[in-house]
Amino acid sequence: MQFRDLKAQYQALKPEIDAGIQAVIDSSAFILGKSVTELEGKLAEYVGRKHCVACGNGTDALQLALMIWGIGSGDAVFTSDFTYFASAGTSSILGATPILVDIDLDTFNMSPEALEAQIKRVLAEGKLTPKVIIPVDLFGQPANYDKILPIAEKYGLKVLEDGAQGFGGNIRGKMACSFGDISTTSFFPAKPLGCYGDGGAVFTDDDEVDARLRSLRAQGKSPMDKYDNREIGMNSRLDTLQAAILLPKFKAFVEFELSAVNQVADWYTERLSFKYKTPTVLDGFYSSWAQYTILLTNRDERDAMQAKLKGQGIPSMIYYPRGLHQQEAYRSMGLSDEMYPCTIDATNRCLSLPMHPYMTKADVDLITKNIID
Ligand SMILES: *Cc1c(COP(=O)(O)O)cnc(C)c1O
Repeated sequence: MQFRDLKAQYQALKPEIDAGIQAVIDSSAFILGKSVTELEGKLAEYVGRKHCVACGNGTDALQLALMIWGIGSGDAVFTSDFTYFASAGTSSILGATPILVDIDLDTFNMSPEALEAQIKRVLAEGKLTPKVIIPVDLFGQPANYDKILPIAEKYGLKVLEDGAQGFGGNIRGKMACSFGDISTTSFFPAKPLGCYGDGGAVFTDDDEVDARLRSLRAQGKSPMDKYDNREIGMNSRLDTLQAAILLPKFKAFVEFELSAVNQVADWYTERLSFKYKTPTVLDGFYSSWAQYTILLTNRDERDAMQAKLKGQGIPSMIYYPRGLHQQEAYRSMGLSDEMYPCTIDATNRCLSLPMHPYMTKADVDLITKNIID
């Protein structure tokens, strides 16, 4: 059994994917070719935004967004403590200070109350200037924008939505990657919409931001002349091959994969919720189920469960084994576990189960039977 079965997906979509790859090779336009432009148009329309700018990966997408706002030394950027490193690392690499925020244990997403407390603390300390909030749509569920957007407004902060895991989710029909002033996603293979290598995208409604993103992803070039550099940019472009692979995968994602993963999540929850803490999807929220993560009673039970499943040939993962405040790279910030009780609790008890649109009811029955026994 696979944790995320990319081979089954390829078998289902093989003719279209193979034809797309061959067409790119025949064209020899390998970087930012026609398929990239087509993909950008389709994704922007799907999430309900004016512009989509494809780039090298989800990390670069975050960095490009922060560069648009000139984020750097002396700036505070608020993000979740329980996420992939890039949500915070991109601020650090630009010289800004990530301020890590504890989570809600029900959704694994940033706690709006903890966020406001951290903003107040930074303001009271007076050393850093609060600039940006990076809510993360963790495991496929949009962050709690109903509460976070008013906080951003109250303190005059920009919102950068890290939708790397959230693509396809929505809140009352408003799509993930439409909540931030700028939003980003990743096409890393295991994400809800993944390519066959690295890829990412940035979303905005602002024409000027769109133009600058197109420049910044290509060394700050002018729109007309590749060798006329207007500002300091990155080299972060999407390969045409990846866009050609993403086009049929996006079609399948919209037509059936998204509803299929929601069906799998329902099967899991029906079978496990009587005994285990299964994921909470907030009222009116819809998840794209990047992960299906349960909480066991304690670390010993979790570790024993993972070992037992492994013995039965069932893969599972610990997303995430530590909070960002516990990372060696952030040791010098001197952040204590006491500030992050919910992150610590989650790291001790979380277990992510196999999750992908090609799972059958029989797969879920087998996994849940092994968990319950
Ligand atoms: C995967 C991920 C990223 C980074 O995406 P890459 O394409 O791997 O650079 C950023 N944030 C979150 C929450 C992610 O899960």
